[in-house]
Amino acid sequence: MKKDDCIFCKIANGIIPANALYEDDTVKVIFDVGPASEGHVLILPKEHFDSIYMLDDETAAHIFKVAVKVAKALQKALPLEGLNVVQNNGKMAGQTVFHFHMHLIPRYQGDTVNIGWKPGEITPEQIDALKEKVAAEL
Ligand code: 5GP
Ligand code: ZN
Repeated sequence: MKKDDCIFCKIANGIIPANALYEDDTVKVIFDVGPASEGHVLILPKEHFDSIYMLDDETAAHIFKVAVKVAKALQKALPLEGLNVVQNNGKMAGQTVFHFHMHLIPRYQGDTVNIGWKPGEITPEQIDALKEKVAAEL
């Protein structure tokens, strides 16, 4: 399914032209219009999924295969020293375009990319309780 009012549906399906880095029947890989660093790309499925919760197994597996392929190409082509795979779901997590996409963000010495968190604390009892709650839904 495509969504008429979705910009990434339009880009992924060629309604809005994009200078794609890679394309196949399932995905299009484009350069981010506001790159965090040189070589920042987005992997977009051609079908519309709002977020990770809606993805089917086959599309999810394909997206990650493409992520590996493109990451290897970025690593060969650019002088990157690291690479972050980022995928935001929901406004709270920083998602601004509500069509599933995966970011590949090359990292360079002295870049201004800011991804991280302050480590918290957790007890074994808290892990047990969490595990019980979440595993029940798997
Ligand atoms: P999010 O915050 O939803 O994880 O990421 C959305 C990303 O899409 C941002 O990095 C933003 O720069 C990028 N973006 C938004 N609109 C367009 C567009 O029309 N073309 C391209 N190439 N990237 C876009
Ligand atoms: Zn869409």
